[in-house]
Amino acid sequence: MPTMIQAVRGMNDILPPETRHWQYAESIFRHILQGHGYQEIRLPILEKTELFNRSIGEVTDIVEKEMYSFVDRNEENLTLRPEGTASCVRAGIEHGLLYNQIQRLWYTGPFFRHERPQKGRYRQFHQCSAEVFGLLGPDIDAELISMSALLLEKLGVRPYVTLQINSLGTLQSRKIYRDALVRYLKAHEKDLDQDSLKRLNKNPLRILDSKNPELKKIIGGAPKLLDHLDEDSLKHFEKLQEYLTDAGVSFEINPNLVRGLDYYTKTVFEWVTDKLGAQGTICAGGRYDGLVAQLGGKPNYALGFSFGMERTILLMQQAGITCEEAAMPHAYLVTDGEESFAEGLKLGNYLRGKLDDLRLILHCGGGSLKNQFKKADKSGAQFAIIIGEHERKNHSVSIKALREELPQQTLFQDELAEYLRLKISKK
Ligand code: ATP
Ligand code: MG
Repeated sequence: MPTMIQAVRGMNDILPPETRHWQYAESIFRHILQGHGYQEIRLPILEKTELFNRSIGEVTDIVEKEMYSFVDRNEENLTLRPEGTASCVRAGIEHGLLYNQIQRLWYTGPFFRHERPQKGRYRQFHQCSAEVFGLLGPDIDAELISMSALLLEKLGVRPYVTLQINSLGTLQSRKIYRDALVRYLKAHEKDLDQDSLKRLNKNPLRILDSKNPELKKIIGGAPKLLDHLDEDSLKHFEKLQEYLTDAGVSFEINPNLVRGLDYYTKTVFEWVTDKLGAQGTICAGGRYDGLVAQLGGKPNYALGFSFGMERTILLMQQAGITCEEAAMPHAYLVTDGEESFAEGLKLGNYLRGKLDDLRLILHCGGGSLKNQFKKADKSGAQFAIIIGEHERKNHSVSIKALREELPQQTLFQDELAEYLRLKISKK
């Protein structure tokens, strides 16, 4: 026997019925984002490697060790996208969407990072993201964050997450802070781990984000970025806090929140939960005013967020949010042989033409009526529609309720459509 081929490690098949959770979550994202005036943008999954090297930063986890990069048949260096912001900015510049314009965009899809697979961390994962261009803030920062709060509310997980915010200041003020931080960390050099030593000169801010518990004390005593903010960033941050408080979006200030990518400026935020173990960040975002220019566009303000869909859905499942009912069939059509099946096929098309929302399963594969009724019951359908010899002769159909005590009825096709319309609309 040939050996079985399995999926690539860390790349998951998403199977039914779990796909219902995905569809449900995705429909909420689409609805809320579009309700706030965000337009969908669809971006390629492959990009030139240089795009990510230049935007995410050379000394970051992603670029150092997580990218799926390869040389294609034309000797081009390509990478499976590890995140979406760089592609979105690239597309925006390439198609002239950003120049002197305000844009509110969203997208969803798979992303790829070569990480150690574990709960909430995979090699192919999905994000749903929003990006805004052309607005200085902090009004839009507040609107974006409050939209993320509404999303969490509608997904049913708001009680399980906390909002953390911080400000990274401008690139200039961060340079000043960086010097103070390096001075402090150099004084504690002997207590740093390998990773941090490597980052000390190249990207010391990333040390603040270290997951090593032994560094907690040193990090706790480090100078705070918030004490080094320039006046403009400080005002921006204070106004944002005012807006959020006014809007009833509670938050914590986390002075060590620096985010994993280099391009952030001013506002950064994360929604975190303690319900998913180590992979607690459900949504992360912030402002990245420098990125458009860094990728060759005319300087433009920008900010955005990304929800990790796997973590969001794990949390929904943990919160007991079920999406079962929505996908159950309304009706299951059983027939007693080839001739009846041919009638059934026509009836199915007729009903679908009349009732846009009808979920009807047409029994295929033959078998006794008894057996077909068993399948109808198992499918979760509310009704069985029956075409047998008797019905065929009378040009009618029978309908039998499977979940409530109702007499079986014989109806004409158009009566059946009307009957189902009433039943479906009640749901
Ligand atoms: P982490 O610190 O958990 O590695 P990150 O800072 O690398 O996260 P971002 O680049 O900010 O993550 O991505 C935004 C969101 O996408 C994360 O908050 C998370 O919910 C999700 N995410 C990131 N990497 C993965 C992954 N490998 N598997 C599943 N979800 C992920
Ligand atoms: Mg990561």
